[in-house]
Amino acid sequence: MQKIIFATNNEYKVKELRSVLPEQMQILSLKEAGILKDIPEPYETLEENAREKADVIHAMTGENCFSEDTGLIVDALAGAPGVKSARYAGEQATNKENIQLLLNNLENNENRTAYFQTIICLIQDGAHVYFEGKCKGSIIKEERGEKGFGYDAVFVPEGSEKTFAEMDLEEKNKYSHRKKASTKLIAFLNDQYGQD
Ligand code: IMP
Repeated sequence: MQKIIFATNNEYKVKELRSVLPEQMQILSLKEAGILKDIPEPYETLEENAREKADVIHAMTGENCFSEDTGLIVDALAGAPGVKSARYAGEQATNKENIQLLLNNLENNENRTAYFQTIICLIQDGAHVYFEGKCKGSIIKEERGEKGFGYDAVFVPEGSEKTFAEMDLEEKNKYSHRKKASTKLIAFLNDQYGQD
């Protein structure tokens, strides 16, 4: 059984990762690993922020671990909120406030195309390995659905009519950026350690 620390405090991200993990792999959230720490995201790229989170936890534990950073990139807003997605409406902003600011900034703009991008950074025996996943879609004008987190209630992935917040996890995983990146991570770990 492989156990690896997922350097996050976001319970939704942990739930999404767990939903795609094979039986022989187990992840520990920071809380489950007994680490109470909020890790800053000071950089301008998803790669650097993902690396920072993994580095901090690796320095504390000496263990292999991974982290991820995700952004919502909206074409009509020149890529915003992007790497600042969690803090779009301010340092302590709630999901609702971030969504409201996004909808206000988009107003009635007809160009509503956007994509989510996830970068996972794995620290494996001291080396950094990156995995990426993207999901294209569009931003609707009003929130729909109660599930998920973040911008899920206003994002409709290409190929669906539903927002992510109207999907259960199994359905979100058919489209999701995080699923795509984590599938690559799992394949890599399986290659390294085999499937037992
Ligand atoms: P971070 O990766 O923790 O910096 O989070 C970036 C922000 O993007 C989160 O706080 C959410 O608002 C948003 N986000 C990340 N992943 C998703 C997702 O799968 N659906 C909707 N919003 C997301």
